[in-house]
Amino acid sequence: MDLGISGKRAVVCASSKGLGRGCAEALAAAGVRLVMNARGAEALEVAAQAIRDAHGVEVETVVADITTEDGRRQVLDVAGDVDILVNNAGGPPPGMWTDWSRDDFIAALDANMLSPIAMMQTLIPGMSNRGWGRVVNITSQAVRAPIPVLGLSNTARTGLTGFVAGTARQVAETGVTINNLLPGIHATDRAVSLDDGVAKKDGISMEEARRRREATIPVRRYGTAAEFGATCAFLCSVHAGFIVGQNILHDGGGVNLTM
Ligand code: NAP
Repeated sequence: MDLGISGKRAVVCASSKGLGRGCAEALAAAGVRLVMNARGAEALEVAAQAIRDAHGVEVETVVADITTEDGRRQVLDVAGDVDILVNNAGGPPPGMWTDWSRDDFIAALDANMLSPIAMMQTLIPGMSNRGWGRVVNITSQAVRAPIPVLGLSNTARTGLTGFVAGTARQVAETGVTINNLLPGIHATDRAVSLDDGVAKKDGISMEEARRRREATIPVRRYGTAAEFGATCAFLCSVHAGFIVGQNILHDGGGVNLTM
């Protein structure tokens, strides 16, 4: 399917690895010009070059922490006017509800709620003026089915979800869609670190921790960044203009909900 977005320009935040990289790859395969971002320069440049080589699109890179005002400014300075925004950042650490201080909550809110909101507030007005835009926020299945040990993530991401629910409906008439894409467990570094935590806590091997987690997913495997990226690229396509303000699970059926 031709996604109809060849030549458009996208910012993909936090995209040197994992799900962000999957989104960058899939957009590049559709002919989209990219601004990619991460904190680590080396992995970012490797990813960017691999995408240039594979897809022949222009890829600019910005080494910056997207959760800081300065980092976002650096990304936005390079980005200029963009048609597509994919918001992403690392997830907060797990823990118990008693563990977290005000500073921990502020850090989680900055990373997973206020940063994507700031990126949207800066970039959507230009999209609206030009009459077309796409925003995809990478959130989590925990938004639909909160995971007790991820209280910081649950808190910040549901705040972002609330913002999107209203804002998506305010900007839709200008040709801009905003949707959230909710990963279940995917085979990325994040999954390795979650499995490592379970293995250490339960005194089992990493393989066993993964096997047990896979058994809880109806498709009996972890998702891939490529599958996630393809879904993101569809949401950014010309065909997805009637999908507005949705929270779309990409979880192999792991969250059992009728609505
Ligand atoms: P990942 O494999 O660890 O990759 C994270 C990417 O984001 C890396 O490129 C990393 O590069 C970059 N990054 C992290 N923090 C950043 C920051 N502050 N500023 C700029 N770049 C940053 O993670 P992932 O699995 O793709 O997860 C992406 C998001 O989805 C996370 O919020 C995660 O919590 C959420 N999620 C993932 C899963 C899953 O199964 N994978 C499930 C549910 C939710 P640098 O470290 O070099 O900055």
